[in-house]
Amino acid sequence: MEKDAKIFVAGHNGMVGSALVRKLKQEGYTNLILKSSKALDLVDQEKVNTFFKTEKPDYVFLAAAKVGGIEANNTYRGQFLYENLMIQNNVIHQSYVHQVKKLLFLASSCIYPKFAEQPIKEASLLTGELEPTNEPYAIAKIAGLKLCENYNRQYGCNFITVMPTNLYGPNDNYDLNTAHVLPALLRKFHDAKRKQLEYVEVWGTGTPKREFLHVDDLANACIHLMQSYNSYAPINVGTGKDITIRELANLIKDIVAFKGDIKWNSDRPDGTPRKLLDVALIHQLGWKYSIDLEDGIKKLYRDKF
Ligand code: GDP
Repeated sequence: MEKDAKIFVAGHNGMVGSALVRKLKQEGYTNLILKSSKALDLVDQEKVNTFFKTEKPDYVFLAAAKVGGIEANNTYRGQFLYENLMIQNNVIHQSYVHQVKKLLFLASSCIYPKFAEQPIKEASLLTGELEPTNEPYAIAKIAGLKLCENYNRQYGCNFITVMPTNLYGPNDNYDLNTAHVLPALLRKFHDAKRKQLEYVEVWGTGTPKREFLHVDDLANACIHLMQSYNSYAPINVGTGKDITIRELANLIKDIVAFKGDIKWNSDRPDGTPRKLLDVALIHQLGWKYSIDLEDGIKKLYRDKF
């Protein structure tokens, strides 16, 4: 990627898109095209066609998506499927039509089978049933990565797919109905401390394990892959380490310095028991995460609350 190349970061106001913009600017990329969802509705085919015709970007980072935690995925099932399919169809197809030099599509670790062998290798894709709570989102993301793969195979496009693990960092969503677990717990423990509550309710049994990657590390990985990886085979991005939700809850409780108890609500779903990514492939390509989970959460807590 040349420093003055026209780079479209789709979804630049989201957690991933904004981290990509920060990193691209730091590295001296000067010609970023950024459109808020108000200025350009990526679900709208006509508008996306016109945008690509007018702007003709050289490179595309496709970080725009409808995302959310376990409750949002399970509640807005139709919207998660429809909006994600539309956004990615529009952007990937127009990137082909207007000969974008390279596109990076962000998928997710939740597209792997619910009971995939751990750590999950890229080859586990489509080898078993999906986790029901986020099946619509996963199906959309699988369609997106297959679109990238098959545009490479049929048309010779250079469209790559990245599978990030669970992410956290600046510009996350803290709405308790739709948030992922890490920001939700920061919000819950912080509010409980402020209001001097006796306990915090945490969902599920606490036994599922999750891997957490700081979004600034993901942004580094994406730019690294944009410069060095040219295969349609999707590639995992994670830390290679996971912790139980119980350990995460205790860690956040300590960071926030909340003195009360934790109450587990097992009426809420646990979701996938474990989704630790095998990161051997990206390590071979010379990238490794750098932000330790505890340090990352401490900094986030200081900056946000
Ligand atoms: P997932 O990784 O797709 O399952 O999405 P989440 O980040 O929403 O949830 C991860 C795990 O954290 C699940 O086992 C949830 O039951 C658990 N969890 C515990 N408390 C919360 C909470 O307050 N919000 C969310 N979203 N998840 C929670």
